[in-house]
Amino acid sequence: MCPHTPQCPEPSGPDREAARTIISHPEQGWSLLCNGVVIFEDTGELLPGGGAIAPHRPTDLVPGIAGRVNPLEPPDSRTSAA
Ligand SMILES: [Zn+2]
Repeated sequence: MCPHTPQCPEPSGPDREAARTIISHPEQGWSLLCNGVVIFEDTGELLPGGGAIAPHRPTDLVPGIAGRVNPLEPPDSRTSAA
């Protein structure tokens, strides 16, 4: 079914979003991938089997927050030991 080489990932795989886009409707906020997955602008997905995946990536990142250090890591954990 998939004419691409290498073949697009299966819709059940974790890399499903890597499939080629065959129909794109940015004005409507969705795209159809080669493996049958419909992916929406907000990163929500509709699977060919009828399943749905909720949006799982932030689309409104605030500059400055995306690049900050890991909040789980104590600040200056290395320098304070000296
Ligand atoms: Zn394909």
